[in-house]
Amino acid sequence: MTEEIQRAQAREMYASLLDVSSPERAGAALMIDVVYGTGTAGEWAAAWKDAQPRPDPALVQTCPRRMQEGSPVAPAGSPYAAREGLDTWRAQGGIIGQEKIGLGCSWCGSLHPDRFMELVREGWVVGPTDKTYKCYLGRNRTEEEIAERKAEWLSAANGIYATIVRLGEEARKSPDVIEAEAEEQWQARELPFVQVSSQKAKFYFQHLSDAQKREFVDLLNAKAVKIGYPGHFYTRPFFVSYEPREADKS
Ligand SMILES: [Zn+2]
Repeated sequence: MTEEIQRAQAREMYASLLDVSSPERAGAALMIDVVYGTGTAGEWAAAWKDAQPRPDPALVQTCPRRMQEGSPVAPAGSPYAAREGLDTWRAQGGIIGQEKIGLGCSWCGSLHPDRFMELVREGWVVGPTDKTYKCYLGRNRTEEEIAERKAEWLSAANGIYATIVRLGEEARKSPDVIEAEAEEQWQARELPFVQVSSQKAKFYFQHLSDAQKREFVDLLNAKAVKIGYPGHFYTRPFFVSYEPREADKS
């Protein structure tokens, strides 16, 4: 009887601790459970879980990179648990400022694949990396922005343009020849770096659906993907294979 009263008192005490907004009370609930066998620790944990804000189901996802790099035996709370539905799309990205471009993967920071494809179609620039599964996305500078950059390049006191002019004059080249050499320098070695503004988002190709991979390959084949300097992938994306040309087929 005494034991029952004690337990009832313990439960009352527990009720006063059942404030799921303060996780430190979990410890007290557990103590009561250990001492009086009230089962309150489990109740507290369940109540706490219920009280957690739930992500919008439409934003819940499974990061394919988690599944690749994780392990099915890692505990659920571990970032390396290879389990479905633990990740979300959120307004945070993998690189500085990416949140202004689109939603990012809570596990790997990749831009959302739908947004990636949208921007690729719009002519944003896919910046090659040395990884087959990763790229950066940048915006092309407008004609006006490029003209501004060129004006700066032409007017820099001790810049490359000034040097080309000085060396040309010393070699007694005509102004036309000097200008042509400067223009060639601009086109070949300055413009490629000026065309794309800084990288805005990172993207992991694993996030593309099969349909999106096919579309990306189609766009590549149609030369409709703008690829940043040097204008091709150092290592092609893992899902891209090149068809042998007709002439190479035996
Ligand atoms: Zn991811």
